[in-house]
Amino acid sequence: MTYSMMTNMKHLMPADPVADMPAQAQQLKKFLGAIVMAATSSLDPVLLSALPCRKRINRAPCSGLLEIKRRDVPHKSILWHCTVCEDGGSMTNWTGTHFDLAPRIAPARPTAEDPELEIMVTLQEHTALRSGRIYDPDCERMIYGARVTPKGVQIRGLESDFDNWVGYLAADANHERQAKRRKLVDAVFQKASDALDDSMLRHED
Ligand SMILES: [Zn+2]
Repeated sequence: MTYSMMTNMKHLMPADPVADMPAQAQQLKKFLGAIVMAATSSLDPVLLSALPCRKRINRAPCSGLLEIKRRDVPHKSILWHCTVCEDGGSMTNWTGTHFDLAPRIAPARPTAEDPELEIMVTLQEHTALRSGRIYDPDCERMIYGARVTPKGVQIRGLESDFDNWVGYLAADANHERQAKRRKLVDAVFQKASDALDDSMLRHED
């Protein structure tokens, strides 16, 4: 496994936010930014994320996903690598950038009244969620903190997080003009609201 690409995120964040950036640098910033969001949204130090590899192998996209590790010592860094090809790298200096989703306060723990819920989504559904522009940081933490399991892509959150998220999902689906993406967001909305309804019914028992 190689972590050959070393990036100081500050170098990709120009002081002037509207400064012209070459297309290639913009693409790299988007790719690495998503890795920072995933690394800072999960409490797990190692995350098999639903983020796809950026490489192409024999003209087809690499089928690998990115495994992401967050380190606090000797200094804060993020290591990432593809599960299939040799692509990988390390990153420093992302704290305080807008990609940094680390909660400012200690994250809430599940309780009897506010239990942890989970749903499984497909990789396609996860891609559709990531291209949504309306989600708040609490939703983004759930989306980017998703982890790949043998059963599918798992999205977790407290019941109160799901309650917040379904509102955004409904708005996202309602405003989407592209039928294909609307269908995907709608499917996630259905799963999330079913999980929420089930959980609320359990309280009433
Ligand atoms: Zn790859």
